[in-house]
Amino acid sequence: MIEIFSSIQGEGKYVGCRQLFVRFEGCNLRCAYCDTEHQINAHASCRIETGANTEQYREVENPIFPENLAIILQDFEKETKHQAISFTGGEPLLHASFIQNVVSLLGKNRPKIFLETNGTLPEALKKCIGCVDIISMDIKFPSMLEKPMWKSQEEFLSLARTKDLYTKMVVSEETTEEEFRKGLTLLSRHASNRLLCIQPVTPFHGIRAISTAKLLHFQALAASLLEDVRVIPQTHRMLQLA
Ligand code: SF4
Repeated sequence: MIEIFSSIQGEGKYVGCRQLFVRFEGCNLRCAYCDTEHQINAHASCRIETGANTEQYREVENPIFPENLAIILQDFEKETKHQAISFTGGEPLLHASFIQNVVSLLGKNRPKIFLETNGTLPEALKKCIGCVDIISMDIKFPSMLEKPMWKSQEEFLSLARTKDLYTKMVVSEETTEEEFRKGLTLLSRHASNRLLCIQPVTPFHGIRAISTAKLLHFQALAASLLEDVRVIPQTHRMLQLA
C-alpha cells in the first residue's frame, strides 16, 4: 500500500466530494501518461495521514492487514464524514480479495465504496463487486498502451453497469478519432445512459495536451451517441491537492 489520506475527489462524477483515499501499488497496464508506481512490493512502508485534515503523515511498515486498515478508516470517519472510501492505485483490482475483506470488516454503517479502476480485470471485479457501490472506469486507448484492451474492457463494462458506474476517457493530442469512436461504440452498447467524463490529459512524459478544437469535436461525437457527456479536467491539480 502506498498511502491513506482524506481529501477531495478531483475527477469525474463525484468531483468535489470529500473522500478517504486508499492507494495501492502495482498496475497491470503501462499507460504512456502514467505518473504513479507500477511495481508490486516497491514500498516498504505506507504513508498515512495523521488525521482527516492534518496534511501530516506517519510511516507504517507494509504489509498492512485488513483488520488494521479497517480501524484506520473508521478512525478517519469518526473525525470527518466522507462521501466514499476510494480504492485507487495503481490498479486496486489487483487487490480484490483484500478490498472485499476490508469492506466486510467496516460493517453496514460505512461510507460508500468507490472503485477507481482501469477497467481491464473483469475476473477480479467479480471477486469484489458485491461490496462496491460506485465504479469509475477508464476507457483505455491503444495509442497509450502496449496492446489494445477492448475485449476485457467490454466484459468489464457488462459487469460494472450493475453498479453506480461512470466512465472516463483521458484524451491527448495523440488520441486518434478511430480509437475514440471505438470507445464510444463500447459505451453505446453497454452504458449509453451513464455519464462519460472526457478528461484532458495532464501532459506528462512527452504526451501533448489536447487542442481545444479536438476536445470539442470529441465531445460532440460522444454527445451524438451518449446521454451525458462532460469535459472535466483533473481539478485536484489546480488546487494542488494530493
Ligand atoms: S491504469 Fe492508471 S495506474 Fe495503471 S498505468 Fe495506466 S494510468 Fe498508470
